[in-house]
Amino acid sequence: MKKADVAIVGGGIAGLTAAVYAAKAGKQTVLIEKQVRMGGRAITNQKNGVYFNMGGHALYFGDAWETFRGFGLSLQGNKPSIDAYGIWKGTLKTLPTNVRSLLATPLVSWKGKMEFAAWLTKLGKLDTRLYDRVSLREWIEGQIKDPMVRHIFYSLLRTASYVVAPDLQAAGPALGQLKNALKGVLYLDRGWGETVEELRQLASRLGVACLTDNKAVSIGHDQGKVNHVLCDNGLKIIAGSIIVAAPLEEAYRLVPRAESTALHTWKEQAIPVTAACLDVALRRLPKPKQQFVYGIDQTVFLSNQSRAAYLSEDGSQVISLLKYQGEETNARQDLLELEQTLDLVQPGWRNELAAKQYLPKITVFHDFMHIKRKENPGPAVPEIEGLYVAGDWASHGELLVDAATASAKRAVRHILARTETEGIPEDEYGGAVSNL
Ligand SMILES: Cc1cc2nc3c(=O)[nH]c(=O)nc-3n(C[C@H](O)[C@H](O)[C@H](O)COP(=O)(O)OP(=O)(O)OC[C@H]3O[C@@H](n4cnc5c(N)ncnc54)[C@H](O)[C@@H]3O)c2cc1C
Repeated sequence: MKKADVAIVGGGIAGLTAAVYAAKAGKQTVLIEKQVRMGGRAITNQKNGVYFNMGGHALYFGDAWETFRGFGLSLQGNKPSIDAYGIWKGTLKTLPTNVRSLLATPLVSWKGKMEFAAWLTKLGKLDTRLYDRVSLREWIEGQIKDPMVRHIFYSLLRTASYVVAPDLQAAGPALGQLKNALKGVLYLDRGWGETVEELRQLASRLGVACLTDNKAVSIGHDQGKVNHVLCDNGLKIIAGSIIVAAPLEEAYRLVPRAESTALHTWKEQAIPVTAACLDVALRRLPKPKQQFVYGIDQTVFLSNQSRAAYLSEDGSQVISLLKYQGEETNARQDLLELEQTLDLVQPGWRNELAAKQYLPKITVFHDFMHIKRKENPGPAVPEIEGLYVAGDWASHGELLVDAATASAKRAVRHILARTETEGIPEDEYGGAVSNL
């Protein structure tokens, strides 16, 4: 048996972030992770000297970046160039991503180019929250006249948000993410695993007990208050505040009588988003100029992450391909489509192959902001005092890993408010904490 002020279930980015914040605020914190290493979907696997993330990962200049910077993490890596191609009717064409490529592209008519240019300018100032209850399709069809510009916007917004559900996806958060993407992104050296490791070390230095290879099996609560986490090896952690930073389905399973809590609503309204991911390391690029490709009439994406990050010991180029999946998925068909995309962009790639990873169906996030959502999940589970949730599904408008860090901060802030701890001194944490 162990005692803690705060127990956190799940050692992905959300759990690690929550652990660091709680420990910095002086809370005795225990972090429980069922796998042998921390990181969840942000781990990096090494294969033949190549660093593969769990599918292509880019760090946007959003909440997670601010949070990590506030923690003093190194975030080594670079911004990739945004010179891109689009796949349209089986061929590669210059994709407009700035004024130069807009002038050059044969994809869009002159009238369309004018409209596209106007949108590039307008987007920067757009108050995207006005479109939180409007579907993406409604926004695009209502705002954009040129059919090709519409296609390109669908493609850009899909790539920024990973979602293929234009009738359900709320336009506001997707537009916000696109606005963010236009500032550029970071590809991280040696993959996201480096950042996870730095987070883990920081948590440990702050005194967090990081328990890996420990699966939580239930969260005890009595008379409307949480009191412990039980692990499958019999370990019991007594805590007055518990943050579940595991996937939503798991949170639901862990909490006895979850059906009579808000967890039920959150589970019922959730729409998970998945992708098929093919990552290849090529000794040489057959077509060195073709490194960044958006599907326009196909839901695929390709990026050579090595153009901005150190991802292999021997200089192999690490290319990430994604197929954004809708409701229907087919592992073999998706692989075929991704390989055909590589045939188009890097013909002869098979002769250069140094390493490969295929993830047929991985959950990118367990829920997102869609127009059928009744309420935003968390941070508190109102029916059970001391119980909180965090994770990329507990978004209040943020997307991807930004939702993981933002929800973790919301949960810790509630704990601090509830336990009447004084606020966190801002200077200790840097700017990111002022949002706590
Ligand atoms: C293919 C792909 C591409 C992505 N691309 C990007 C991108 O470009 N940019 C971006 O910002 N984000 C991206 N993401 C999203 C990003 O990886 C996630 O948002 C983030 O890693 C989620 O962190 P989390 O802590 O919420 O969840 P997770 O990483 O899922 O962590 C949950 C943890 O809980 C643990 N756990 C579960 N049940 C238990 C239990 N019973 N007991 C103990 N532990 C338990 C799990 O093992 C896991 O470690 C991508 C994700 C994928 C899959």
